[in-house]
Amino acid sequence: MSFDLAKVIRPEVQGLRAYQVEVPPGAPPRIKLDANESPFALGDSVREELAAELGKALADVELHRYPDPEARELRGLLAQDLGVAPEQILASNGSDEAIQMLLMAVAGPAVTIVAPVPTFVMYEIGSRVLGLRFVGVPLDGSFDLDGTTFCRVLAAEKPRLIFLAWPNNPTGGLYGSPMVEEILRTCSGRACDALVVVDEAYTHYSGETFLPTLSAYPNLVILRTLSKIGLAGIRLGMLIGSRAVVEEINKVRMPYNVNALSQAAARVVLRHPDVVRRHASAIIRERERILGRLRDFTGLTVFPSRANFFLIRTDRPGDDVFRGLYERGILVRNFSRAPHLANCLRVTVGTPEENDAFLSALGAVMGHGG
Ligand code: PMP
Repeated sequence: MSFDLAKVIRPEVQGLRAYQVEVPPGAPPRIKLDANESPFALGDSVREELAAELGKALADVELHRYPDPEARELRGLLAQDLGVAPEQILASNGSDEAIQMLLMAVAGPAVTIVAPVPTFVMYEIGSRVLGLRFVGVPLDGSFDLDGTTFCRVLAAEKPRLIFLAWPNNPTGGLYGSPMVEEILRTCSGRACDALVVVDEAYTHYSGETFLPTLSAYPNLVILRTLSKIGLAGIRLGMLIGSRAVVEEINKVRMPYNVNALSQAAARVVLRHPDVVRRHASAIIRERERILGRLRDFTGLTVFPSRANFFLIRTDRPGDDVFRGLYERGILVRNFSRAPHLANCLRVTVGTPEENDAFLSALGAVMGHGG
């Protein structure tokens, strides 16, 4: 048989590489600091409640039936938590799916998507999969956004969608809010009409949000996720916007996109904002402690972070540092060969013990003797 798959799959899809996480061969790492997850498993009491609730869900939820297609109860709780109306929220299978829904809703011939780069790769991958034009506007040497240049690009490119990861992944910085507001104004009829997606995946670690300005900007869409606060495994993200925006995006949502067990698990965690806050504060304290310690390292540039991770650039090949850490049982994310990120590694903040192990391993790899 001479079936030619290359004649079937779109060239832009063939040209892509699937989203991959680099894990060298050999023993699994002892310490996992590569995926921006929370190192805390929500504490024993919440876990017990979670187990009980999931057990109950398994017993009570009719698993032979589809879940609530609109995730109404969950959206009600999320709305309460965020101080918006349930009609302003769309629940998604991770915020990845919310990104995909936004792209699908604006997709069409000659449609352009803009984001500062480097940034979260799914904005570009999702655009390319749909055959959309993705224009990345490089951040400056300190990974800051030059608002004037960015708005000039917006005026020239007239995108339909702009992605601002806030704080940005993988650089960790938080663009100034007046600049984000300038972008929102530029895209509400002044230079173009575009939805501005402020992706607040790391909001618990930045302590900042655009939620209070939602009513002022009809083109503002906010993304949130439970992945960074202890529930990466359940895949729950959300899109928050005006009722009109949510109504449109909801039309491209797959029915039953959030499964019954994830809905049940999320309900438990939403009952414990205190635990989430306590863990976030511990991670922020650890982040500041590590960044302080890293200032004493030579041969290292450390970029400021408002997230639960930070980016470092080493003056020796990043691949070597990545491998040296891995040999000492520590997995970080290697961006050494990614555009704009030569010799950069991204490190997720872990527990105090994990962070101490990282600091001493990095010291050994960089020749600081500990
Ligand atoms: N947005 C940003 C900025 C991220 O860093 C990530 C995770 N790496 C996501 C979205 C996706 O998160 P989720 O697990 O909710 O799909």
